[in-house]
Amino acid sequence: MKTIGLIGGMSWESTAHYYRVLNQQAARELGGLHSAPLIVHSLDFAPIAQLQADGDWEAAGALLADVAKRLQTAGAEIIGLATNTMHMVADAITRDLDVPFVHIADPTSAALLADGFSTVGLLGTRFTMEMDFYRDRLMTRGLTTLIPEVDRTNLNAIIYQELCRGIIREESRRIYVSAIERLAARGAEAVILGCTEITMLIDDDVSPIPVYDTTDLHAKALIAAALS
Ligand code: GLU
Repeated sequence: MKTIGLIGGMSWESTAHYYRVLNQQAARELGGLHSAPLIVHSLDFAPIAQLQADGDWEAAGALLADVAKRLQTAGAEIIGLATNTMHMVADAITRDLDVPFVHIADPTSAALLADGFSTVGLLGTRFTMEMDFYRDRLMTRGLTTLIPEVDRTNLNAIIYQELCRGIIREESRRIYVSAIERLAARGAEAVILGCTEITMLIDDDVSPIPVYDTTDLHAKALIAAALS
């Protein structure tokens, strides 16, 4: 099995989920005491979040590209970036990388298409919902995405003010479920949890339409790539 390099810390709460899913999936695939050969480079999220807020994607891209290179030098044979939002700078990260990079939107779109969905809701940070980088990638794979019309500021704030700090509030869960209900009413057949922390709040039990959890799908795709 190849060694996975994970760029984490954005936030560390979701990287902890990745760690669990990566190891559980390796054990599921290989049995016995198998776990995932893994190098995690976990960043301090505060300066990254500041670069996002400043719109300084060039500096963020340079920083993450450097981390990816360091993981490669340390022996990583596959790279994963444990956040949807920072895939905004996926091109900068992969430009000088010699090992494969598993883009989080690809296993997500593959799972939705395999289940026969074509119009899907997208929840995430305001960057992921409002900028083109994520929706365009889904579109080129055949998916039409709908984003919330009214709730985006609230949904974004819940990610940064609560979920990234490990805070789970029932009121916030209700806000997310209402947003999903409104997406479903507009024609969304399923919803992408397009932020790696939303899985802490939303699952199939509380959602009126099927949820596609990018953390779970991405971690499983990294294991599949490591075993290929
Ligand atoms: N983990 C989140 C995501 O998947 C948000 C934090 C970040 O901005 O990286 O988008």
